[in-house]
Amino acid sequence: MSTPTNHLGELLQDLADDRLNGANLARARAHLDDCGRCRRELEALQLIKQTLAPQTGHDELPPASSAALSALLDQEDRGAASSQWSRGTGSRAAWRWALAASVAAIFATTLLLWHNDKTAESDPWTTAVAQHFAAYRGAQLPLAMRSSDPAELEHFFSEHLDFHPRVYDLDMMGYKIQGGEVARLNGRSSALSAYLGPGESRLLCEMFTGRMDELPPAPRTTSHNGTAFRVYRRGALTAVYWAEGEVICVLISDIDSEALLALAFAKAGPAV
Ligand SMILES: [Zn+2]
Repeated sequence: MSTPTNHLGELLQDLADDRLNGANLARARAHLDDCGRCRRELEALQLIKQTLAPQTGHDELPPASSAALSALLDQEDRGAASSQWSRGTGSRAAWRWALAASVAAIFATTLLLWHNDKTAESDPWTTAVAQHFAAYRGAQLPLAMRSSDPAELEHFFSEHLDFHPRVYDLDMMGYKIQGGEVARLNGRSSALSAYLGPGESRLLCEMFTGRMDELPPAPRTTSHNGTAFRVYRRGALTAVYWAEGEVICVLISDIDSEALLALAFAKAGPAV
């Protein structure tokens, strides 16, 4: 029997998700009759699907399942001697067990990526602020204005923005301002101020024009002295948002959530 060279690839995912019909379905079935590799990939996809649905409520496969499995099957095709997949040796039960273990690993990765994509879609604000924070932590954030003086930074922003953000002085809390820049946040201009605190801890503050109801529902909301705060988590990061008139302020850091919230409580509200 000759081995078909054009495997079904993405079509297998459609087949597993019951999206094939007509000629495509007939073609896929004909190929499966001849191709052990695609049969195994389909079996693995069905296994992922069975594992996935009860845990996530998603009844479709994560987008990259087929690609991830193909990579795994390519490895096997290259005949890795240590492959636990080898169908010729060992029982079918053992093969299925090895398959399940491999699939679980792929599944964990794809599900994480998938989840991250959905989170990024549903909260573009925190996604962007978190990216700025990661850049700052990795010393990749170009601070156009280097200054340790909040008033000087405020002046810089007033020259570059059509709104007037406040620049908080967090010196009393141990956070020294490093500088700032005009950043982009989900299509809007943002006044970004960077702080360095105890033990090299870092903190970013961003301000942009907007309304709180543009933000997605928050897992945690709280209020302090009449100001409403929304608290979001992204991995090890906490982002706290509140409104000052037509400006939204967000503090983001990887410091303890409660400590960050305390900083926000101290600074939000009328300037004193
Ligand atoms: Zn095939």
